[in-house]
Amino acid sequence: KIRTRIAPSPTGFLHLGTARTALYSWAYARHHGGEFVLRIEDTDVARSTQDSVDQIIAAMNWLGLSYDEGPIYQMQRLDRYQAVIDQLIAQGKAYRCYATPEELTEMREAQKVRGEKTLYDRRWRPEPGKVLPTPPEGVKPVVRFANPVEGDVTWDDVVKGPITINNREIDDLIIARTDGVPTYNFAVVVDDWDMRISHVFRGDEHVNNTPWQINIFNALGAPLPSFGHLPIILGDDGLKLSKRRGAVSVMDYAANGYLPEGMLNYLARLGWSHGDDELFSAEQMVSWFDGTHLSKSPAQWDPAKLDWVNGHYVKQIDEGRLAALVVEQLAAKGIAATAAQVQPKVGLFKDRCATVAALSDWLSMYFAPVAPSADEVAMHVTEAVRPAITALSSRLGAVTEWNKVNIQQALKETLSAAGLKMPQLAVPVRVLVCGRAQTPSLDAVLEHFDQKKVLERLQSL
Ligand code: GLU
Repeated sequence: KIRTRIAPSPTGFLHLGTARTALYSWAYARHHGGEFVLRIEDTDVARSTQDSVDQIIAAMNWLGLSYDEGPIYQMQRLDRYQAVIDQLIAQGKAYRCYATPEELTEMREAQKVRGEKTLYDRRWRPEPGKVLPTPPEGVKPVVRFANPVEGDVTWDDVVKGPITINNREIDDLIIARTDGVPTYNFAVVVDDWDMRISHVFRGDEHVNNTPWQINIFNALGAPLPSFGHLPIILGDDGLKLSKRRGAVSVMDYAANGYLPEGMLNYLARLGWSHGDDELFSAEQMVSWFDGTHLSKSPAQWDPAKLDWVNGHYVKQIDEGRLAALVVEQLAAKGIAATAAQVQPKVGLFKDRCATVAALSDWLSMYFAPVAPSADEVAMHVTEAVRPAITALSSRLGAVTEWNKVNIQQALKETLSAAGLKMPQLAVPVRVLVCGRAQTPSLDAVLEHFDQKKVLERLQSL
């Protein structure tokens, strides 16, 4: 049975890279009718928080990445890890190491002087004919895995293809710290084994850990999962995507008015392709995502493309849902509006918006005062055009049925009486009423206002 997992460390929000790994793992499981597990790797007790777990889960839910098991917390599995460590020690596949940090630094310095690779020299590893030092008093040991000393570790990476590492390159990994808490590379193996994970997708930064993990799987007699290491995501400046260079948290994108459909679609394409398809639903991705066509080269985060993809969904989703999201965005800015007020207006603006935030910016003119800059007013609302604005204001004031046709009529009459062309009047009216010089068709924009509000703004000169 295909079983995949995502195993975030709860030390912050759900990072875009982790979200992409989660998406691929989820889609792969769903494609095969398998299962997807959420595991919380919280052994870094000092940095792990429940708040972070909650945020990660909120982001997974937002993206629609449903999991079949979990969250499973590593810190609730310490007894299990301990039992496996005891078993490995009893079998001579792991051993206690009492070397102090000072000793190890000394060892590494000496290796550097000799021009050697800095690897643990196995001083505490029991070997036939070797006399071990007496354990020093008061030093708590770590536990190390007795890595094979010769031979190769080989696997066929789902993303990168065949990889081979010689065991001479790898030293005896610490699998339990002095306080007994297992290290990442060990806990991950016990977990992937116990949770019957068939396919491990994770970031490229873990590719160097995989040989150790494979050796531990083998020492445990556990079946090996397949591994796929996804290339890193670069920012649009070509450097690794990071907090300093813009939003990297999935929920920041949610807060900034991106839609889960857009985010999921964009993340899917960031390292995977299906022919020339750029726009597709989660269901389509699931039906296509069979672990092939994964890119080997780093992906480039492209905000313009994200906007393009997201804009597609802004146009496409149900207007009731769009209106509800706009209400939230407006509320976050302290602007009160109801979905019933917003919904009739979204159709007029949504085509020009990449995000719900952009749409909310447009719609805010209906619910909050507009503040055109003095420069803009001076430039467009000239002395020459003011009499025409006053005339328009009286004509609009006389309209009894406030609709597009009558508004258009008032505009036309004002233009011909003043001998002006449409833009000469429409631009200053936009500046005064909408707070910006460009909008969709003026009659349509004005129709959605209260007549009274339009008159007030025109008379605010
Ligand atoms: N906790 C690890 C991480 O967040 C998980 C790596 C793995 O999937 O094995 O990078």
